[in-house]
Amino acid sequence: MSVCHVCGCDITHLSCFKPRSYCSDNCRNYMKYKNALERCIIALKPTKESRKIIKGDMFRLSNCLSNGTTLPGKLND
Ligand SMILES: [Zn+2]
Repeated sequence: MSVCHVCGCDITHLSCFKPRSYCSDNCRNYMKYKNALERCIIALKPTKESRKIIKGDMFRLSNCLSNGTTLPGKLND
């Protein structure tokens, strides 16, 4: 049994030919887009104002983990 590199859940799979690093499409996509986003951010040359907006976007993204209101189908604790 291996553990998902993103969410830490146990990965259950039947194929022993291709070991998986992620438990789901969401976790695989998260890693894919995170890496892509990082490359984009490094390449950006934002103005001071735009930098603030981008940082706000990142802050809201990270809050998705603790604040369930933006996640469809998930109830608040
Ligand atoms: Zn996962």
